[in-house]
Amino acid sequence: MPNRNLNLILLGPPGGGKGTQGERLQEDLELPYYATGDILRAAVRDQTEIGKAAKEYMDRGDLVPDDVIIGVIAERLESGEADHGFILDGFPRTVPQAEALDRKLSELGRQLTAVVLIDVSDEEIVHRLSGRRVCVDAGHVYHVDFNPPATEGVCDIDGSELIVRDDDEPEVVRHRLVQYHEKTAPLVDFYRKQALLNRVDGSQDPDRVGESVRSLISTFSLEEGS
Ligand code: AMP
Repeated sequence: MPNRNLNLILLGPPGGGKGTQGERLQEDLELPYYATGDILRAAVRDQTEIGKAAKEYMDRGDLVPDDVIIGVIAERLESGEADHGFILDGFPRTVPQAEALDRKLSELGRQLTAVVLIDVSDEEIVHRLSGRRVCVDAGHVYHVDFNPPATEGVCDIDGSELIVRDDDEPEVVRHRLVQYHEKTAPLVDFYRKQALLNRVDGSQDPDRVGESVRSLISTFSLEEGS
């Protein structure tokens, strides 16, 4: 059932299931879904200015500079297409990004509804990312064990080829986790202090995680409607 005026952030480690849950939520809630990793990968593919600025950081598993990614999100929030709500996945990833988002939203007379932390341990992340596959055309996410496609190597949704992302290689994954703990994990406290943080156990299978996320979100919808 479509929900309006929900301004949501999905927070959590790389490979923790934000993309899988984000895609499901996008369908359920019919809200624009901004996954900054997907947006940046498309920019790299299309060789835009932003893609050129981001590529070397992404290849190393580093975060791209704050000003690059803040501009990308600000543009979408100003465009009007997210006026009735949005789902952010992979943004913000640093405290300065979160502060910039707060400023932009208050400029637009809006505020966040909630932050959903999909919590998964590092060991589980390494195991998951080694089996993750994404489709070349649109980045739809699969896992060889937990969420396999109907036909091996082919996307169920658009039929394109499934590949291992360069940054899912084990060494890069370890580096991305270090970045997460150093730069993104402080956002857990940042949003807890604003009473926006909601934790979901992301170690369960994707359907169970999806149920937890949906039931959590139905409580926000009630609050919004009350
Ligand atoms: P993801 O698909 O969300 O894991 O993102 C892949 C890569 O894109 C990250 O490792 C970063 O290099 C870059 N990236 C995505 N979102 C952000 C962000 N909010 N801030 C900085 N870098 C980002």
